[in-house]
Amino acid sequence: MIPRMFRRALLSALFGASALALPASAQQAYPNRPISIVVPFAAGGPTDTVARLVAESMGRDLNTSVVVENVGGAGGTLGAARVAQARPDGYSLLLHHIGMGTTPTLYRRLPYDPVNGFETIGLVTAVPMTIISRKDLPATNLAELVALARREKEKLNLANAGVGAASHLCGLLLQTAMQVQLTTVPYRGTGPAMTDLMGGTVDVMCDQTTNTTEQIRAGSVKAYAVTTRERLPSLPNLPTANEAGLPGFEVTVWHGLYAPKGTSPEILARLSKALQAALRDEKVVSRFNDLGTSPVPQSEATPEAHRTFWMADIAKWRPIIQAAGAYAD
Ligand code: ASP
Repeated sequence: MIPRMFRRALLSALFGASALALPASAQQAYPNRPISIVVPFAAGGPTDTVARLVAESMGRDLNTSVVVENVGGAGGTLGAARVAQARPDGYSLLLHHIGMGTTPTLYRRLPYDPVNGFETIGLVTAVPMTIISRKDLPATNLAELVALARREKEKLNLANAGVGAASHLCGLLLQTAMQVQLTTVPYRGTGPAMTDLMGGTVDVMCDQTTNTTEQIRAGSVKAYAVTTRERLPSLPNLPTANEAGLPGFEVTVWHGLYAPKGTSPEILARLSKALQAALRDEKVVSRFNDLGTSPVPQSEATPEAHRTFWMADIAKWRPIIQAAGAYAD
């Protein structure tokens, strides 16, 4: 038997000092195993669609598989908590949307820090929303939908993905603009909500074009308006909410990629580089365009630009949410 002291000296001579400190897998450059991106909503929804396109392409740049994990529920806060509490080793990431700007004000108590629990990697895209309904709802345009909502009130229900979801935010703005309160039905994501809308179980929804474009084109749902200032080339016949009678009604849903607090700047820089590559990828760009969106400029897919934008978004929503008293607890 070789005495321990000699064994260490021998190993050190053969493999160098670092070989003793780290297991073999950790010595290879990052990344050396699959990376998980948590989407804090159900599979098949708009955020999931964005994440899967980006993940596949990032995986090519990083030379490892990047797997999307859906952790839906509580308006995106369950999935965000999972990543805030994960090891900051670059293998657990979060792709989340505008909810990162609203949640810090909407929720007074959370099991994680919604601001300081994360490092930013880069912005991804800003997605328009559409106001849609089950296809047999007796309203043919936005003015008729408003009239119907005012008549039916709580008898009409509005699907969303929980407090903190973009569909929740858009739904709040819509009810305020229509001056009526509907019954809200929360889902783990607007993917399953869309299934119920197509099946006629729920009546109305406001959701991102990454989930609604194909159903609108196929006529599986009725569409009333898009929430951007201009019409979309991908849905040219759909009026803007402004044109259709709700002046100034605008929302777009920005998305960003995050890592747990404490992830090293080197890993964040590597991930940001892979994100930029994904956002230049022809396949990603053309699918984004087809779904009514486009990647952010490369200069915004950086940790710094993302953090600046995110902080400004929190500051933008805080007074609006406070004035509406729209808290989650
Ligand atoms: N992004 C959607 C929302 O915020 C939810 C989802 O992705 O399923 O409503």
